[in-house]
Amino acid sequence: MNPIRWVRFESIAALNPLLDDALLVVDPQAWFAARSWLTANPRSLIRAESLDEGVLDTMTTADDAWRGVRRVIGLGGGTAIDTAKYLAWRKGLPLILAPSALTVDAPFTDSAAVRRAGRIHYLGRVFPEAIYIDVALIQTAPAHLNRGGVGDLLSIHTALYDWKRAHERIGEPYDDPIARQSASILQRLGDQAADIYAVNKAGVRLLTELFCEEVELCSRAGSSRPEEGSEHHLLYTLEYQTGRTYLHGAAVTLCALLAAYLQGNAPDALRALADACGVEYRAVLHEAGEEALIAALVSARDYALEEQLPYTFLMEKPITPEKAHEALQWVRS
Ligand SMILES: [Zn+2]
Repeated sequence: MNPIRWVRFESIAALNPLLDDALLVVDPQAWFAARSWLTANPRSLIRAESLDEGVLDTMTTADDAWRGVRRVIGLGGGTAIDTAKYLAWRKGLPLILAPSALTVDAPFTDSAAVRRAGRIHYLGRVFPEAIYIDVALIQTAPAHLNRGGVGDLLSIHTALYDWKRAHERIGEPYDDPIARQSASILQRLGDQAADIYAVNKAGVRLLTELFCEEVELCSRAGSSRPEEGSEHHLLYTLEYQTGRTYLHGAAVTLCALLAAYLQGNAPDALRALADACGVEYRAVLHEAGEEALIAALVSARDYALEEQLPYTFLMEKPITPEKAHEALQWVRS
């Protein structure tokens, strides 16, 4: 099912008449930016802060906040979107999403990312009534946030390698047409990288369409194989070990570059594409630090095995500290 069916390239001003019986989940910056268009007041307002399951559960039981609420609206970045999805799912209420920046594919996927004891899990199944893609709102977010959104598409590069490998090594089913169509997403991204960099109308539209297509391909594959592999697993390891979360798109990009290098899978081409889109993956390199990244690379295999994640090249042999160091040197060069 292609989620583009729910997308409306419209102003969020259309949500004003719906706010009266809505619980609005926001992140503060998005709420501030949206106030130029959203002039009505919501029935309830919840500030998205964390995807920790305990925090989310507390929200579902705050009876005052739910009085008279007939719909959940999520407005903001990935955390606000995933919080809204989780709450709508748990409460069995209709859902509307309005991403304030296209930083992740979360507005278009049907499960909610939740953290349990620091480990990421995808829960629930929820389909929105509508996904508002308001270009003017999205353009109020810092440009680097929107550019970084391509991380969940660049991950196709390393994920497809892992999928094929899983087919060859452990006989996992592999779908060649789906893999080829997934790879073509990267091609189209490359063709229009200048629009992504500019965060113009064509760029926002392209990113929306490619996210929707990627989500549809995953649903046809019956797994996130076309988009998620060792690069995401590496990031989950890093976030688990450091107890921190990083800007998802830029962090996935960094992890995809490291994984592509270690896979021997055209890392230079991937880096050229990431640079053309203007992804600030180097900022994550500094933020996380070399030591934490090496530790994550070295122990990603153990994390993947413990979590019983799908098979990737990470499971084959442990990455040595020397090899991890070499990959980091390459990203930096
Ligand atoms: Zn992702």
